[in-house]
Amino acid sequence: MQLTQIIVRPTHQARKGEHGTVLANVNIVLDDQLMIQGLRIIELRERRLVAMPDRELTLNCHACNYRISFSDRYCRSCGVRQEKIEQEGRRYADVAHPINQTFRDYLDQSILKEYDTKVT
Ligand SMILES: [Zn+2]
Repeated sequence: MQLTQIIVRPTHQARKGEHGTVLANVNIVLDDQLMIQGLRIIELRERRLVAMPDRELTLNCHACNYRISFSDRYCRSCGVRQEKIEQEGRRYADVAHPINQTFRDYLDQSILKEYDTKVT
């Protein structure tokens, strides 16, 4: 499987967050057939990494059991304020990701190389 297109959009104002600074948003095309959107190049502890597209995991409202996201302060169904959510572990899950290290390395190197040609 080959990356046939890499679309890198550097962020104009790097957004610093608890999970690093987003340097760019990336879309890729595999074998001229399948586009995957929502990858990001992140700088974390002076290291760059490619993050796969992900979605926020959900939990249930403690009052009505409606499905809400971790970032919701109030239930979208019953309006009850949510207790401060102390979540250990994962809050996000990958939507798509490589299933072996060889393809992971190929993906990371290709995307970071494309980013370097864009910003330098
Ligand atoms: Zn509720």
